[in-house]
Amino acid sequence: MELDPDAIGLADPVEPAEIDLGGGVREVGVPTPPPRLSPSGAGTFEQCPRRWRHRYVDRLPDPPGEAALAGSFAHRVLELLMQRPPEERTPDAAKKIAREEWPETEAADDFAALGFDDEKSRRFRWRAWQAIEGLWKLEDPGAVDVAATEQDIEAELAGVPFRGIVDRLEREGDGLVVTDYKSGKAPSPRFRRPRLDQVLLYAAAVEADTGEMPVRARLLYLGQRPVGIDVTRKELEVVTEKLADTWAGINTACETDEFEPRTGPLCGWCPYLDRCPEGVKAVEKRNRAAVAAEAAHLAAAG
Ligand code: SF4
Repeated sequence: MELDPDAIGLADPVEPAEIDLGGGVREVGVPTPPPRLSPSGAGTFEQCPRRWRHRYVDRLPDPPGEAALAGSFAHRVLELLMQRPPEERTPDAAKKIAREEWPETEAADDFAALGFDDEKSRRFRWRAWQAIEGLWKLEDPGAVDVAATEQDIEAELAGVPFRGIVDRLEREGDGLVVTDYKSGKAPSPRFRRPRLDQVLLYAAAVEADTGEMPVRARLLYLGQRPVGIDVTRKELEVVTEKLADTWAGINTACETDEFEPRTGPLCGWCPYLDRCPEGVKAVEKRNRAAVAAEAAHLAAAG
């Protein structure tokens, strides 16, 4: 089975805790629905309710990896770049911003936890810069009519209290466009549509907040390609109904304190694997299957 790298959180930037955890004060260990549901919270529950419990109820650490931190750094630089006047949105300006922002990233606990030496730290910066520079392969940033960056939006969608941060809203000839930067690998065609749920939810939230329905929503896979979709009433209904189903599932799980483990290929990347016997079994089974497939391949090759 092909893995969608973004789906396993290898490249999604780190959301601020107050967004990711839904805000509000909830007692650790007591299953309670969050005051607001973010796309990452919804995605975690859809992937595995047990993982959701560990993260959002037990508040166990789910440290971001190198790729997610590099993505966050790239996002921050692009956010500041796009707040500049159009003529100042140049690669040199981005470099200057990156140099100014780097000390804060370098001093953060999440970065220190990676334990990088100078060489690894240099490679990290290079990787982040590749993502930042990749914007110019997709568009002329100076030609973008920016309406907002990093917009924190709260809205009720199909009865669900929703909150998310929209990377960028821009005006094009026919209306508003929702854009989200991605520094991971662009999805293959069969993974594209699910990846657009997040920006469609943002489009629904923008409409609920402002009264204007965006005309398009897109993911900019930095250095690779854009993946976009026309926003239609039907598309918004599909994603908001799915969000409502997830919200109902979270509420039921919290009422009953039943959070089923949903094993799958992503268990191998789960930070809670060591406390999940079902996940351990799933990973061992996949490892055995991989070893058997490798042996069969070598035998066939003679
Ligand atoms: S190891 Fe797999 S089944 Fe267990 S909590 Fe993590 S994702 Fe869920």
